[in-house]
Amino acid sequence: YFAAMREQTQDENISRVLYPNDSTDTGRELRLKQEYFLVSASIQDIIARHKCRFHNLKNLADKVVIHLNDTHPVLAIPELMRILVDEESMDWEEAWGISCRVFSYTNHTLMSEALETWTVDLMGRLLPRHLDIIFEINEQFLDALRAIGKTDPDLIRRVSIIDEENGRRVRMAWLAVVGSHRVNGVAKIHSDLMKTSIFADFAKIFPDRFTNVTNGVTPRRWIAVANRPLTKFLDKNLGEQDWRLHLDHLAKLNELVDDPKVQAEFAEVKQANKQRLADYIEKELGIKVNPQAMFDVQIKRIHEYKRQALNVMHIIDRYNKILENPDANWQPRVFIFAGKAASAYVAAKRIIRLINDVAKVVNNDKRIRDLIKVVFIPNYSVSLAQIIIPAADLSEQISLAGTEASGTGNMKFALNGALTIGTLDGANVEILEKVGEDNIFIFGNTVEQVETLRREGYDPFVYLEQDSDLRRVIKQVSTGTFSPEEHGRYSNVMHGFGDYYQLAADFRSYIEAQERADKHYSDPAKWRRSALINIANMGYFSSDRSIQDYCKKIWFIDPLSEEELPSENP
Ligand SMILES: *Cc1c(COP(=O)(O)O)cnc(C)c1O
Repeated sequence: YFAAMREQTQDENISRVLYPNDSTDTGRELRLKQEYFLVSASIQDIIARHKCRFHNLKNLADKVVIHLNDTHPVLAIPELMRILVDEESMDWEEAWGISCRVFSYTNHTLMSEALETWTVDLMGRLLPRHLDIIFEINEQFLDALRAIGKTDPDLIRRVSIIDEENGRRVRMAWLAVVGSHRVNGVAKIHSDLMKTSIFADFAKIFPDRFTNVTNGVTPRRWIAVANRPLTKFLDKNLGEQDWRLHLDHLAKLNELVDDPKVQAEFAEVKQANKQRLADYIEKELGIKVNPQAMFDVQIKRIHEYKRQALNVMHIIDRYNKILENPDANWQPRVFIFAGKAASAYVAAKRIIRLINDVAKVVNNDKRIRDLIKVVFIPNYSVSLAQIIIPAADLSEQISLAGTEASGTGNMKFALNGALTIGTLDGANVEILEKVGEDNIFIFGNTVEQVETLRREGYDPFVYLEQDSDLRRVIKQVSTGTFSPEEHGRYSNVMHGFGDYYQLAADFRSYIEAQERADKHYSDPAKWRRSALINIANMGYFSSDRSIQDYCKKIWFIDPLSEEELPSENP
């Protein structure tokens, strides 16, 4: 009985919890089993439906597209090949031709450490036939390259689906590129960088394969559901124009941004949302925040590259300067954070702890007189985002340039009338193009500057030597000013002071951008006008536009006419 139960329990583990901790071998093995389980179920379902309707698979690529959203489902390529060749007895060449027309792939990160690879050993143990098929795909791809004269062994080594140097690993992103007819990034800058960094060799081999589809967000959720006051405001001021289905129609607001009555109405919208969030924070955390203060918000997964730590450094610097100069005309701010760390990501968890430690010290320092409040709201989720985002004045999008593929939080905030403080990274670049430089606070090194620093040997101590404010902040954190019960808790916040994400290099420019934000906010009419300009120019960032781009550029599909609609789902 127990032996029978053990087997069943192990099987059920496959679908018990998604995204297991992959810091152990058993965790990684479960993860690969889950990926295969979901992929295989999907491919079998697609094939069964297609056969039911068309009775053969020769026209599969005319009727089906399968989009690989990141590398996690890339096993779908060898799985489809296995079914076509082994089970349906199709020729390899015909099957491969169909497979490449069926699949397309979206890349979501340029950070090589985040791209999935599986050891040949694990894949061979769990999925031996799929590993064979991957070897065959790779051999044919490399043979085809050699056949057109691309014989440079360095090139062959770089583009091989099998990484032979780091203990023989299958590079899932490489397999996705070789087995798809289109590969896209998720913002202009990201798609461009894709072609000059991780996929530079492939972009030369397959120049027509690479394209861009800038991400978007749905106005139904991020305005109509999340922000009822703004919904009423837009319906009143845009008249017949239905922004819910045609977000471009928001542009009509551009004619109204200087109207004091419209500005006052918008101020009421924002205030109602800030009051709602203040009430939520008091109820959930027992912290009273001033709803008249600027709400400065950073909510997103906790990751070193997203640089929540840079935000904390600004808070500490501001704390120091208020103590030094208490009578200056300080803009009261509420700093709001939310976000989860992956279960095995120790450095990210330490950042969460630092935010909470800084909050404890600053919030309880009577000398600060509520000029700063720091709030970490736990259990970040979409539902929580729907309460927080409509209440934001300032949206923190401060990743190191070149690391955030697109971001979508940045779009949700701008759509709800928050101004962005951000780097020239991901979709921030396109938001800047739409709203204009007077209505966004851009700071920090560009991708080119970041790369130059990396190439020439980045040294954070250069910035520490030059900047006494920065020096003071780092010293306070690393010597325990915010962790008096454990002085060494943050002795290596800056990634062991290697400062891989170049916080020190961007610190001064960030502080200056924060000063520009304070100044802008001190003129309420000017701020509201900028907020309205942000909303008015977000039409491009609708997910409807993104999906239309996918239809046109990648899936090559048009809407069905009324007659073509199937009477029922086969
Ligand atoms: C939009 C959203 C994200 C993505 O946020 P970024 O700031 O783009 O990283 C993450 N989590 C939730 C719950 C979201 O709603």
